[in-house]
Amino acid sequence: MAATVIDGKAVAARFREEVAREVAAMPSPPGLATILVGDDPASAVYVRMKREDSAEVGIESFHHEPPADVSQEDLRTLIESLNGDDRVDGILLQLPLPGHLDQDPLIGAIDPAKDVDGLTPLSAGLLAQGREALVSCTPRGVMELLRETGVELEGARAAVVGRSILVGKPLAALLLAANATVTHCHSRTRDLAAVCREADVLIAAAGSPALITAEMVKPGAVVIDVGTNRGEDGLVGDVDFGPVSEVAGAITPVPGGVGPMTRAMLLVNTLQAARRRRGL
Ligand code: NAP
Repeated sequence: MAATVIDGKAVAARFREEVAREVAAMPSPPGLATILVGDDPASAVYVRMKREDSAEVGIESFHHEPPADVSQEDLRTLIESLNGDDRVDGILLQLPLPGHLDQDPLIGAIDPAKDVDGLTPLSAGLLAQGREALVSCTPRGVMELLRETGVELEGARAAVVGRSILVGKPLAALLLAANATVTHCHSRTRDLAAVCREADVLIAAAGSPALITAEMVKPGAVVIDVGTNRGEDGLVGDVDFGPVSEVAGAITPVPGGVGPMTRAMLLVNTLQAARRRRGL
């Protein structure tokens, strides 16, 4: 039996509408600052979409595009000025940065109260301790999609493939907080297929096209494909969609699954940061 295909666009649209409603009821709009450094075309597209999304729901956007050869010090000064700007509730430093910049201290310079990407060590630490934190957008979106499927996470076996600080690690922490039994896989995992086949919930966030094949999926499992790989056939995920959808119980498509949720969760995080900062 073919799997239910989870419509990430439709779920994301509901979140955007909700954010727009809540923003309209606020005395002044939340503000999101975006920083784009360098000339990576994909990054430019992502930032443009984030600004358009913000405008659509009434979030004010403050865009900064320092020169590609900006110094570490000048970029840090920009981040600090945004930390101190009361109109700004969220700061998004678009990654990757050009090679001459040292990413970690710059991420660390973002005020954790404005860390809408959930990347600062404080946000990551709070999440790891199971405490309230701003959670990075993609993992948060994945959790909302899982909620949408109605899958019982408590006691379920979950496998996460990928351990980046942006996706895999926060996702594993969120699944653990939801009382799933989590197996965390990466490029050194032995017999990935056997580990994946045990999972009731399988999340692929490796950036490797068709890594997850039908033989690796437990019949009826929920399969979430975070992967976004640009190939000759356009955008594909990490999951071999056709054959896997014959085995899985539910599955997200690429495009139209996790991607729209990532965008929507940035708006949710910005609203959350604004409320907290303003005591609303
Ligand atoms: P990343 O930093 O490159 O991390 C990839 C992770 O996958 C690493 O932990 C790596 O293991 C693991 N991995 C790679 N190949 C593997 C293999 N063959 N078997 C097992 N594990 C493997 O990537 P990322 O930033 O987490 O992103 C992952 C994917 O999600 C990418 O395709 C990215 O474009 C996509 N993405 C999508 C969205 C969205 O909104 N849809 C958002 C963010 C990212 P090691 O640690 O051992 O190297």
